[in-house]
Amino acid sequence: MKKDTTALIHHAYQPPAGFEAPQVGVHKASTVLFRDTAALRSRDWRHKTGYTYGLHGTPTTFTLEERIAALEGGRHCVLVPSGLAAIALVNQALLRAGDEVLLPANVYGPSRELARHELAHWGITHRLYDPMDAAALAAMVGPQTKLVWVEAAGSVTMEFPDLVGLLRVCRDQGITSAIDNTWGAGIAFDAFALGADIVMQALTKYPSGGGDVLMGSVCTRDDALHERIKLTHMRLGLGVAANDAELLLRSLPSTALRYHAADATGRALARWFQQRPEVAQVLHPALEGAPGHAHWRACSTAAAGLFSVVFDSRYGAAQVDRFVDALRLFRIGYSWAGPMSLVVPYDLGVMRQPAPYAGTLVRFSIGLEDVADLRADLEQALGALAT
Ligand SMILES: *Cc1c(COP(=O)(O)O)cnc(C)c1O
Repeated sequence: MKKDTTALIHHAYQPPAGFEAPQVGVHKASTVLFRDTAALRSRDWRHKTGYTYGLHGTPTTFTLEERIAALEGGRHCVLVPSGLAAIALVNQALLRAGDEVLLPANVYGPSRELARHELAHWGITHRLYDPMDAAALAAMVGPQTKLVWVEAAGSVTMEFPDLVGLLRVCRDQGITSAIDNTWGAGIAFDAFALGADIVMQALTKYPSGGGDVLMGSVCTRDDALHERIKLTHMRLGLGVAANDAELLLRSLPSTALRYHAADATGRALARWFQQRPEVAQVLHPALEGAPGHAHWRACSTAAAGLFSVVFDSRYGAAQVDRFVDALRLFRIGYSWAGPMSLVVPYDLGVMRQPAPYAGTLVRFSIGLEDVADLRADLEQALGALAT
């Protein structure tokens, strides 16, 4: 059964007796009552055998956890209030003072800031590795290395890493690997099957799809690894609100439809940009010749509706800003995977040293609008470049 559509829609849920509706109820509670002291003493919050306290889960959040785990091909899932909180949770659960974590050079920016500041304060060091070079990662792993983060495709510059090779290095060297699977969304490839130990996702993006919920997930297959993460989750007091879980449960069955729709529009517009004389390079892993295209093809046929465009260096940042400001349907704003197409210009020199490309980069997040309308908007805004 296809795990990102049919299996999600027919995922087991036991409705209250006498109310045979497949939609999951919105259960809200801090207190969960126990029948007697024996029930109180025998309660087990570690396994999903029952309910103990609202923060530890309700029927609504347990069901969402089970469905996200099924989508990712994992066995366990914990939910946290944002994608970034999911990254922080994994780091805090697995790293101790003196440990080192390795991050890809094109890692999601706030993840690197977390390492540079919070992890550094706890005596945890980090280094950046080249995600295109698995042999270089193998050479970097040292006795202090306890965790390797992987991201496919990389943030903003969109290189698809040697995912198969990187995860094999981690497994061969016995280092726990965690993948930020926000781009793949459990749809583009099966991260666990490729060897990831931990699969994290910003549910804020495709699984929500509405641009109205912030949430993150951390999935595992291994029971002991899950228990470490679950213990840290509990000690930190993390949890998610029932109404947010409800929104996720409602949008989850259409995630794959929306993903593939944005993919089709994104590829059409990325190819259109390739023909434009104003553009030096289009960074989209599904395009021939794009960085990491062969790596992407080795494990996937689908892609998120997300790509970046490097403008020809004859256009300065101020000119590219005029192009961005001239867009009408593409709105300026962070995050992605909602119904509205978004655009953000990035200063590569500030993001990464050395800057991987000369010229100004603009990232496009493709929403659910009509492709011809979006193309017309891009075309009219390119007129502002020349002026
Ligand atoms: C958005 C995003 C996150 C963080 O998600 P939030 O819910 O916004 O905190 C993490 N990783 C990637 C790759 C993202 O795009």
